[in-house]
Amino acid sequence: MGQSIEATLDDIEATLKEARGNLTKSKAGYIFGILTKLKNERKELALNFLRSYEPEEAKKYLLALNGVGPKTASCVMLFNLQLPSQPVDTHIFRIAQRLQFVTDKFKPAEVETWFEENLPKTWQTHYEFHLNMIEHGMNTCKAQNPKCDICVLNKLCPSADTKD
Ligand code: SF4
Repeated sequence: MGQSIEATLDDIEATLKEARGNLTKSKAGYIFGILTKLKNERKELALNFLRSYEPEEAKKYLLALNGVGPKTASCVMLFNLQLPSQPVDTHIFRIAQRLQFVTDKFKPAEVETWFEENLPKTWQTHYEFHLNMIEHGMNTCKAQNPKCDICVLNKLCPSADTKD
């Protein structure tokens, strides 16, 4: 018994295309594979059972799914499972380097691990930090011409470029 997968591979691919995704064929295959695994192993097409896992264990489970990389696993944890995790996008990557939390040798997945080890290990902290970092990157610590003069971090930031 349990839930059945009503969508076909083509349905999933069409939905991804509608959402203007790229690599829709291979992504549809990965999603179908994960749904099939959940149906066979858990009889339920959901990942909610991971909410009771320790964050490290939940991430291990997600990363073992075919087609799931560190950023996807982290996004699922932060935005769906309410587990502490820190997906690293271009803004977070850039700010972490400018603040010299990490060196320019770090890869995004290593920056993610750095934040997960150094931020308080609560979902709320990770969630608010994530949103604030992205807003900071979009409005102040921009890729080109960061607004260091008005940045609240300019007295602490090793990369601050202020006129005074
Ligand atoms: S001081 Fe400048 S480089 Fe440093 S975080 Fe602020 S905007 Fe970014």
